[in-house]
Amino acid sequence: MCPLPSGRACPAPSTSTGCSRSPSAASWPPTSAGTVSCSTWAAGSPRGCCRTVSCRPSANSCRCGWTSWAAPPGSVTDVVLSHLHIDHVGWASTSGVPTFPRAGHHIHTADWKHYVDGDADDAVRRKVGPLRDTALLWDGDSVAPFDWLRLVHAPGHTPGTSVALIESRGQSLALVGDLFHHPAALDHPHWRCGFDWDTQQAAAARTEWLERLRTTRTPLVGPHFPGLEPVMLR
Ligand SMILES: [Zn+2]
Repeated sequence: MCPLPSGRACPAPSTSTGCSRSPSAASWPPTSAGTVSCSTWAAGSPRGCCRTVSCRPSANSCRCGWTSWAAPPGSVTDVVLSHLHIDHVGWASTSGVPTFPRAGHHIHTADWKHYVDGDADDAVRRKVGPLRDTALLWDGDSVAPFDWLRLVHAPGHTPGTSVALIESRGQSLALVGDLFHHPAALDHPHWRCGFDWDTQQAAAARTEWLERLRTTRTPLVGPHFPGLEPVMLR
């Protein structure tokens, strides 16, 4: 979710990857209420724009690409943080004040201990520390904040990396965060990513999730994937 002023022009989506797009991406089923938006700041992106996957029940649609954020920050009820790397939390607070003051922030305890209580990254601690009163820390293998949303622990990229599984009307979508940092990892899960906290554990997690998503025919989308196009594994 993006704390952006409305009305700012955004660039056109980048071209998709060579992977197959999910045939259901354009009409991906909506959730029962509200808008689901998952995003990250993109390094080098124009100010005021972000990459999002937004699913809007009222419009019965899911769109991916560059958008501007028009909803008042105070209207956001829940924020899911896939992990606590700075490019995914740089908007979490401004001058010590949470950007989404009324939202519960879902964060795996392992990342909170590593980056906020610990000293792994001062910049992350400054940005996420102000969420202490709004953080909804969860532990263990998985948690279901809503009947349509399950967060699953997939450590390796960071200690608390999680995958958000959205399910509605018999279809699903996996928001994989940086479990897959680049589409190339879909074909080469054992290639090392320089940002992984534990390279062996990250590779094992990628291998496991590839099998899981392929078996369940679940499209996935990664916040660093070109154009944020959902990918259905062959
Ligand atoms: Zn990351």
